[in-house]
Amino acid sequence: MSGQILNDINLKQYSWFNLGGNAKNFFKPKNRKDIINFLNRNKKLNQNIHILGAGSNTLFRDGGFDGTIIKLGSEFSNIKVLSDGNLEVGAACLDKKVANFALENSIKDFEFLSCIPGSIGGTIAMNSGCYEHEIANSVISVDFLTLGGEFKTFKRDQINFYYRGSDFGETVIILSVKLKANRGNKDEIQNKQNKFVEQKKISQPSKIKTCGSTFKNPNNKKAWELIKQSGCENLSIGGARLSEKHCNFFMNNGDASSKDIEMLIERVREKVLLKTGIKLDLEIKIIGKK
Ligand SMILES: Cc1cc2nc3c(=O)[nH]c(=O)nc-3n(C[C@H](O)[C@H](O)[C@H](O)COP(=O)(O)OP(=O)(O)OC[C@H]3O[C@@H](n4cnc5c(N)ncnc54)[C@H](O)[C@@H]3O)c2cc1C
Repeated sequence: MSGQILNDINLKQYSWFNLGGNAKNFFKPKNRKDIINFLNRNKKLNQNIHILGAGSNTLFRDGGFDGTIIKLGSEFSNIKVLSDGNLEVGAACLDKKVANFALENSIKDFEFLSCIPGSIGGTIAMNSGCYEHEIANSVISVDFLTLGGEFKTFKRDQINFYYRGSDFGETVIILSVKLKANRGNKDEIQNKQNKFVEQKKISQPSKIKTCGSTFKNPNNKKAWELIKQSGCENLSIGGARLSEKHCNFFMNNGDASSKDIEMLIERVREKVLLKTGIKLDLEIKIIGKK
C-alpha cells in the first residue's frame, strides 16, 4: 500500500471547530487502489471507518475516534473540463477552487460554492448550498467506493438528495463527481460570486472556530430565528457560545471542549422545543467517543 496509515493522530487540526481527541488510525490514500486494499484488509479487522473532507461540518468528540479516519488528499483534488464540456471534480477539491475554476471557464451556477468552506466530496454528501442553490442541481453522476471496496458510478436519478443530506452520508467513499456545466457571461459570474461573498460577510461571522450552521432550518422556519425567540442568544457553556452575528453558528471561543459544544447544543435544543414546540435537527456531524 503506498498511502500512509498514521497512528494516534490528534483530530483538532482537521475540524473547523479545532476540537477533538485522537484517531486510532489516520489513513491518507494515494490512489483508488490504495483505498480498495485498505477496505479489503479491513473486512477482517472490521474497524470503524469515517471519511473526512475539509472538516467544516464535523465536530470530533473529546474521546477521539476508535477506528480509521480516511482523508483524501491532493491526489484526489483534480478538476477538469471534459470533452462534452461538463466538469469532473475530485472529491478532495475545495468548493472555492471549483467556484474559481468555473469562473475562469465562464461556467455559471457554481458561484455559491465560493461561500462554502468544504470539499466537493463533503458537499455532495451534505447536499450543501446557499442562496437558492444546492449542489444536487448540478450533479450528473458520482463515482464512489462502497465500504466493501466495490467501485460504482451512480447517475443523478439513482441518488437520493434532500435538504442538507444524501443517502451517501457515512456509507460510501465519494471519489469524484461529474457536474453539469452551463456556459455564462464571465463578468456576470464574477459579479454574482462577489455579491454572494459580500452577503455572507454581512450576515455571518468569519475567523471564528465554527462549523457554520449547527442546526438545519426546519420547514419554512429559520433555526437562528427560533434560537433567538427562545432566548438562547447569550447562552454559553465553558468555552462554547453562539456567535453574536449569527446565533445558529456555535463556536469554540478558544478554550472549549467538544463536550461544552455538545452540552450547549442540547441546552439550546431543549429551550427551543419548550418555547416553540419545534425539535431542531443537527446539520453538523458529531463523530467519535464521548
Ligand atoms: C464558516 C462556514 C460557513 C458555512 N456555510 C455553509 C453554507 O452556506 N451552506 C452549507 O450547506 N454549508 C455550509 N457550511 C458547512 C460545510 O462547509 C458544508 O457542509 C461542507 O460542504 C462540508 O464539506 P467538508 O468537506 O468540510 O465535509 P466534512 O465536515 O469533512 O464532512 C461532512 C460529511 O460529509 C462526509 N464526507 C466528506 N467527504 C466525503 C467523501 N469523499 N465521501 C463520502 N462522504 C464524505 C463526512 O463523512 C461527513 O458525514 C459552512 C461551514 C462553515 C465553517
